[in-house]
Amino acid sequence: SKPIRIGIVGHGNLGRGVEAAMAHNPDLRVSGIYTRRDPAQVTPLAAGTPVHRMADLAGHAGQLDVLILCGGSKDDLPLQSPELAARFCIVDSFDTHARIPEHFAAVDAAARAGRTTALISAGWDPGLFSINRVYAEALLPDGETYTFWGKGVSQGHSDALRRVPGVAGAVQYTVPVEAAMQQVRSGTRPSLSTRQKHTRECYVVLKDGADPDAVRQAIVSMPHYFDEYDTTVHFVSAELLAREHGRIPHGGFVIRSGNTTPAHKHVIEYRLQLDSNPEFTSSVLVAYARAVHRLHQQGRFGALTVFDVAPGLLSPKSAEELRRGDL
Ligand code: NDP
Repeated sequence: SKPIRIGIVGHGNLGRGVEAAMAHNPDLRVSGIYTRRDPAQVTPLAAGTPVHRMADLAGHAGQLDVLILCGGSKDDLPLQSPELAARFCIVDSFDTHARIPEHFAAVDAAARAGRTTALISAGWDPGLFSINRVYAEALLPDGETYTFWGKGVSQGHSDALRRVPGVAGAVQYTVPVEAAMQQVRSGTRPSLSTRQKHTRECYVVLKDGADPDAVRQAIVSMPHYFDEYDTTVHFVSAELLAREHGRIPHGGFVIRSGNTTPAHKHVIEYRLQLDSNPEFTSSVLVAYARAVHRLHQQGRFGALTVFDVAPGLLSPKSAEELRRGDL
C-alpha cells in the first residue's frame, strides 16, 4: 500500500526528530517541511526533502495525509493546531497540562467542522505517562500514583536560569530523589512534598565580573522554579557546559502501588530513560500519525487524546498480524 504522506510543520528539535524517526517507519514518508522562516534558512536532515513556506500548505492539501506539528506549546500550538486542524489531520505535542482542556475544545471545533482527525498532546508526558497513569489507576483503584521526572534537562528551568542577571549560559537537570522512589516502591504509599520528590541541579556559566553568591541566591530563591526545591548550583566554564551538557536527556517513572485486599499489595512501574527527549518524543508523534491516518479513514472526526487511541493502531502491523504474533 502507498506510504502515509507526512508534512512536518516547524523545524526545531522535534521537527528534526520526526525526520530522523522516518528512517525506521517505511510505511510513512515525509512529503515536505513547512516553516515560518525563509525556507533557505532551514536545512533538512535528508537532502532531498523539500522545505516550503507555511503559506504553501493551503495548496498542498491533496498531497498530505497527516501534519505533525512541531511548534512550541507556549506560543505556536495554541494558534497552529486549531488553524491547521480545520483543513488537515494533525498530531501535536501540546504539553501545558493545565491548558489541555481549552486546547482540546478549540481543536475539536475546528476538526469537526473540517471533518479531520486531530490528536493533541502526544509525546511522553503528556502522552505515554498519561496512559500509564490511567491504566494503573483503573487496575488498582485502591492505591496511589507517583510520577518522578529525570534525570533530565528541563528546557523551561534552563531558560529561567539564563534570564538571571550575570548568567551567560546554563543547563538545569531535574533529578528524582532515590530514597523517595524506594519508599514508593515499597508500597507504603508515602505522602511526599515537592521538595522530597525532586532536586534541581544547575550548571551555570557566569558573565565576566558577575558575583557568584548573588547569582546563586537569585537562583535558589526564584519563585515557582527553584524556591520549593533543594537546588545546587555549579559554576562551570562555557567550554565545559558545551562539552558535557549539550545533550537533552530526560525520562522518568510512573509508579502506582495499591491493594486488592489488605494483605496483598501490588506495584506497577513504567520507566523511560531517554538520551534525547526530542528524538524520542518525535518517535511517539510518528506512531500516532499512523493511528490518526487510520482513524480518519474510519471516519473518526474531531479532536482526540492518547486515551482515545487503541494501541494496535500505533503499530505498522495489521490487527490480524498482531493477533497472530503479539498476543
Ligand atoms: P524548538 O524551540 O526547537 O522549535 C519550536 C519551533 O521554533 C520550531 O517548530 C520552529 O518553527 C522554530 N524554530 C526552531 N529553530 C529555530 C531557529 N533557529 N530560529 C527561529 N525559529 C526556530 O522546540 P522543540 O522542538 O524542542 O519543542 C517543541 C515543543 O514540544 C515544546 O514546546 C514542548 O512543549 C513540546 N514537547 C512535548 C513533549 C511531550 O512529552 N508531550 C516532550 C518534549 C517537548 P519554524 O520552522 O516555523 O520557524
